[in-house]
Amino acid sequence: MSRERAFQGLQCTECQTVYPSREILQKCVKCGGLLDTIINPEILSEISKDDLEHARSMWRYRAFLPVDEKDKIVSAGEGDTPLRKLSSFHGNVWVKDETKNPTGTFKDRGASLAVTALSSLGVKDIILSSEGNAGCSFALYSQIADLACRVFLPRQANPAKVELSRKLGAKVTPVEGTIAEAGRRVEALAKSEGSYNASTFVTPYRHDGKGTMALEICEQLDWMVPDYVVYPVGGGVGLVGMWKMFSVLEKIGWVRTKPRFVAVQPTGCAPVVKAYQSKRDDVDEWKNPETIAFGLRIPKPLAGKWILRCLRESEGIALSVTDEEIRKSMGQALKDEGLLLEPSSAATFAALPQLYGEKMIDRSAEVVLIATGSGLKTLEQF
Ligand SMILES: [Zn+2]
Repeated sequence: MSRERAFQGLQCTECQTVYPSREILQKCVKCGGLLDTIINPEILSEISKDDLEHARSMWRYRAFLPVDEKDKIVSAGEGDTPLRKLSSFHGNVWVKDETKNPTGTFKDRGASLAVTALSSLGVKDIILSSEGNAGCSFALYSQIADLACRVFLPRQANPAKVELSRKLGAKVTPVEGTIAEAGRRVEALAKSEGSYNASTFVTPYRHDGKGTMALEICEQLDWMVPDYVVYPVGGGVGLVGMWKMFSVLEKIGWVRTKPRFVAVQPTGCAPVVKAYQSKRDDVDEWKNPETIAFGLRIPKPLAGKWILRCLRESEGIALSVTDEEIRKSMGQALKDEGLLLEPSSAATFAALPQLYGEKMIDRSAEVVLIATGSGLKTLEQF
């Protein structure tokens, strides 16, 4: 099957400079802005749903992803996760169960795509900052593709995430402070060594991988779009990626609407909620972030402006939940639904009482919660 591919290069989200697709890029060379991949909907609109790949993974949607036809896919069976209706809520609530991914989190989608793209471009060595889950994912895919992988994470990271990253072949360096400190260490090292920084949004190849969740949700609902997608915002990769793919689906006519996003953050680190509620265009750094949801302890997401733009475009809602509410939701999700969730993931469940109680959303609305990660790596927090 040979057709023009939809991936047509990269574009800076700030100065709009366009780059060719076969270049090893991180942030915009001209202005330091974040790069987005250009996926041309006109070309995608020429394919039909029958043309989707038969793979039982996110690579079913290869045509939507920024890869070349000849690129060797680096896959461990990520994606194709269940979308199941919850029985314990009065409402139409579904969960996209990302705990079923190879290393137990949705980070596998971003890492599978990034390692596929980077190894095809000839990158041999990657370095990244992580709160733990992305480290495990990149360690796994790097091992498959024979890439050297170094991960810098906060010393407070869950021990199982550190151990698993090491077992999967990554060189792990604990850093004092938050992921912001780890990010600064990685940035300085990547610059001095010339190695590739695969951290959140420093590389432009992660968010489209997570965007495949949107494609799967629509197909699983028989090409219907839910009214709301409830998403725990840390770095915001999944929100940005899914919003892009929902928009592409609407443009090519496979669906007729787009969902509204609900961004959830813990009260101890809610920079996006604060900025959105005060109608700001950018996110201020959150001082002294403190929460049990380590994946959401991101004091200043690099893509702050981009996240806020997606939220505004989707006429979204932003709200925060307490650690106590998160803890309670972890117990409830396990007991009522058999879902073992990590705290970051349970934050979406914790948002439901507020969303319904304060009538922010109607009981009849179709709601999809993104369960981003398994509790298997955070058992000490249970
Ligand atoms: Zn730029």
